[in-house]
Amino acid sequence: MVRITSGFWRDRMEAVAKKGIAHQWKMCDETDRLENFRKAALGEGDFVGRFYNDSDVYKLLEASLYSLGEFEDVVLVKRVEDVVDLIANAQWEDGYISTPFTLQYKGMRYFALASAHELYCMGHLLEACTAANDLGLSERLIQVGKDLVDHLVAEFGPDGRPGYCGHQELELALAGWSRSTGDSRAMELSRRMTDLRGHQPSPLRVQFDEPKSDELLKNYRALILVDDQYLGEYCQDDMPLREQTKAVGHSVRAMYQFCGALDGYPDDPELISALEKIWDNMVSRRMFITGGIGSAHRNEGFSQDYDLPNYDAYCESCAGIGLAMWSSRMAQATGKHEYMEVFERVVLNNVLSGISEDACSYHYVNPLASRGDHRREEWFECACCPPNLARFILSLGRYVIWEEGDAIVFGVPVAMEGEIGGVEYTLESEWPWEGGAVIKGFNRSGRKRVIRARSWGGAFGWTEFEINEGAFEVVIEGEYRTQWTRSHPAVVENVGRVALMHGPMVYCIEEVDLGFAAHQFSVNTMGPIAHLDNHRIHVSGRIRSIDTGLYYPAWNESNPYPHTTDFVPYYQWNNREAGSMQVWVAED
Ligand SMILES: [Zn+2]
Repeated sequence: MVRITSGFWRDRMEAVAKKGIAHQWKMCDETDRLENFRKAALGEGDFVGRFYNDSDVYKLLEASLYSLGEFEDVVLVKRVEDVVDLIANAQWEDGYISTPFTLQYKGMRYFALASAHELYCMGHLLEACTAANDLGLSERLIQVGKDLVDHLVAEFGPDGRPGYCGHQELELALAGWSRSTGDSRAMELSRRMTDLRGHQPSPLRVQFDEPKSDELLKNYRALILVDDQYLGEYCQDDMPLREQTKAVGHSVRAMYQFCGALDGYPDDPELISALEKIWDNMVSRRMFITGGIGSAHRNEGFSQDYDLPNYDAYCESCAGIGLAMWSSRMAQATGKHEYMEVFERVVLNNVLSGISEDACSYHYVNPLASRGDHRREEWFECACCPPNLARFILSLGRYVIWEEGDAIVFGVPVAMEGEIGGVEYTLESEWPWEGGAVIKGFNRSGRKRVIRARSWGGAFGWTEFEINEGAFEVVIEGEYRTQWTRSHPAVVENVGRVALMHGPMVYCIEEVDLGFAAHQFSVNTMGPIAHLDNHRIHVSGRIRSIDTGLYYPAWNESNPYPHTTDFVPYYQWNNREAGSMQVWVAED
């Protein structure tokens, strides 16, 4: 068990636990997401919302369990009990559960695996059940999980039919349940779903030919079919994962697929080699400086190499969370520190941009430039991101420390304490503003161990210390550099532009500080940089000519309008009044 003890991340957790979760339950009430379960328990009434709305309740339940594992909250205890009752009552005798298919699409369960999200929702429910089992909370929810797995194994296991969901998620949820409970059937089913995906004819494709599935599939035809042909790339069903070399399709689906596959086959060199190829393609050509992924709104996903538009970046909060989940798994499977650098980058920039300072409003997409019209919202019709942000922030500890042979690996120097493999530890740091850390503790494991930690500054990559039995203390050197960063010239939007980074933290400029539109400021990268309070960075530059005609001779730019301004951490943008924003700033 890992406890995040103080500092930056603890503050984020407290905002979510003390304000964000209550706000999100209120939104689930007001948008009929909970009412759907009440109706489903009775078996009557109209379903309200979209296919996947049940999953928001499940993710928020999972977040609430993590919160109760750390913070006392009697109101939340009652809320969790009530919601678990609703879910248990809405579950069918055979373990199946879906409120839209109980109320609206009666008799049509599993008619449209590509679009109906039944298995995706059940995956999120199973993750909540796993959290309950891990934390020793809610026997009733654990029983829901057991019944659900019985159903899934009967329906899609070795004696059932081949099938998997258009939106991956269940694979990683089954593997997590198996790890937590020891139920090997769940792991086998997870592997089976990973292995089946991408072989033709796909069980998703054949349903497009069935008239009985039409009603459920009609809104997804344009997304999944190309010229009325099933290609499957949108949901990574075009080829087996082991043959894939590029990051394609819907980015959240892709991330969850890679996580589920690694959970099923953590030691499989062929699978890891395929995932490394996809990773290389993604981080060298298809990932934003913020760690955001998904360039296109059209498919909520990947497009072409070097297509990284700033204003129109999709960079969904959930995709960032998915990338963080995948990065940590890759680091654990390969031992390579590069994966945790991406973890830190995506978490501190793309993911945290998704949630406001008070944890009660959210970004669904996280562009790298704004004209001032992109604002946080308190909820969304498709509300996958808010509860995903809540559960991720409250469970960061699951991704940052692990054992590898004799080593205790600290993937990120977040202030934390706990016990792992017979080693008690406390990590103190100023992360994410400084890269160093002090790790103290007591080794009771009965043998020599290795402390392995990484840092962005100082010794880049892993640093190792051998510790004997008994008390130990190690100091990790790490000094973050503040530096101007350029992008590959193939990224056309960033030619002539620079971004400011401090360690893993990306910075931006906002109109509220400048007093004029952010794109009109150009920076002098040779000028002095001053670090101010509140982690702002002061720079000099000039205002680009604003009182000229529409066109003018370049040599005639007589008035340079010198100007200085503050850069602020990107994740903080849009917490003040509306205005434009730029990450990639024109260079003088
Ligand atoms: Zn989302």
